Amino acid sequence: MKASVLIIEDEIEIAELIKLYLNNEGIDVFHTDNAEAGLLIIKEKKIDLIVLDINLPGMDGFEFLQTIRKDYDTSVVIVSARQDDEDMILGLGVGADDYITKPFSPKVLAARVRANLRRYMNFEELEKTKTKTKTKTIKFMDYVVDAEAYLIKKEDKKISLSPREFEVLLYLLENTGAPKTPEDIYKTVWGNSFGDLTTVAVHIQRLRKKLEKNYTLPEIIETVHGIGYIIRKETLS
Ligand code: CA
Repeated sequence: MKASVLIIEDEIEIAELIKLYLNNEGIDVFHTDNAEAGLLIIKEKKIDLIVLDINLPGMDGFEFLQTIRKDYDTSVVIVSARQDDEDMILGLGVGADDYITKPFSPKVLAARVRANLRRYMNFEELEKTKTKTKTKTIKFMDYVVDAEAYLIKKEDKKISLSPREFEVLLYLLENTGAPKTPEDIYKTVWGNSFGDLTTVAVHIQRLRKKLEKNYTLPEIIETVHGIGYIIRKETLS
């Protein structure tokens, strides 16, 4: 099955360039220059990933993202000319999976799209085969993690994590006692080394908000100053 990507970008030259690179990767590409039309396309077509520009005429990228997140969990890579972190955090806060700033190399963007697609498609496949796969369970504090099914529960209540948040947590859980650097985490979870490491910090922050009793005093995912993050062995139950 071919993956399909929707590009929402009003700079036609940039869109054409991204399209060219993604077509070369064997990916079907749809393009529109505005977010309103993007909303119609995702209703009609099966889109696996959206490459989303932020500065768009009419509805901007953030508004688009907030709108689609009510109904879709499609993977989103934000492409933006704004370089400040605030935008990135805002973008990830409303559910983007990755972020790249302009100007960028189309080759790097294609690699990021491919890595995000791979993760997303694996996740989809897992969802489909969930009942068939063998369960690998990890317990910590009051949580039970089913690593194969991408499920985490607290006292039988399902906690909603994005695939990426889940993978960051799983990576730390599978390496308890060993601090991991943001580079380690990015490389393992995002599958490449082109990333902006703030993405990792944002995902850690989101995990803490969802899992910790008090996210400002984390007891599950601790910060090891100057190194990175750790889940201690004692945290496992
Ligand atoms: Ca633009």
